[in-house]
Amino acid sequence: MKAELISEKNGLSILSFDILNRYGIKHGMVIKSNGREIDKEPVYQKLGTGDRLAVTHQVHGDHIETIPPEFSGYYPKKIEADGLMTSVPGAVITIHTADCVPIFLADKENKAVCLIHAGWKGTALGIAQKGLQQFMAAYGLKPGSIAAAIGPAIEQNCYQVGSEVADRFGHSVKMSDGNGKWRLDLKAENRRQLISAGLPPGDIQVSELCTFCQHSLLHSYRREKELKGQMISFMEAL
Ligand SMILES: [Zn+2]
Repeated sequence: MKAELISEKNGLSILSFDILNRYGIKHGMVIKSNGREIDKEPVYQKLGTGDRLAVTHQVHGDHIETIPPEFSGYYPKKIEADGLMTSVPGAVITIHTADCVPIFLADKENKAVCLIHAGWKGTALGIAQKGLQQFMAAYGLKPGSIAAAIGPAIEQNCYQVGSEVADRFGHSVKMSDGNGKWRLDLKAENRRQLISAGLPPGDIQVSELCTFCQHSLLHSYRREKELKGQMISFMEAL
């Protein structure tokens, strides 16, 4: 049984995934603690290990930045990208999401990690598939050597979109509401992209948590209207 685990560390509530814990991969998603809003900057300061914390300014594109050993643009600088990857020991990469899909990729031997932010725009651009291909090419990885987790995001039942969005997606991941509106399954589409880039389905864990439904644990842009906080996903290469 694949499940998520919630633990408390350093005053933060952290969700982690069985499939990544199995390989000892340092990772997690900072979620609400006792229902409190997440304030990003103090969380970044707690996650930082010296000057090795990489933080994104996300633009709903498909660029994923590689953090090389000589990298010097760490927090509080922000990297314009919708994903980060690294094999630098001790470097902590982060992304932030509310309803968008956080995707965690790791080499099972723990030498390289990658985080992807996939909202509908990035998903339509194929960011999961491109990101996985870029990750394998950068670190010489084969599909069978990678473990993946798709984290909490807005679920299909809670995510109604218009045809201008739905038209960008295949019928396997959308259902018609019959009035020109559709229900889009972003988690399923990102899973489909990872499989189409070669990952065995058994190496992909998909969270069943919905950001819109789980108000005591998670932020939702749709539910909260104006965005108050976001969950911060992090990974670290060893
Ligand atoms: Zn929901």
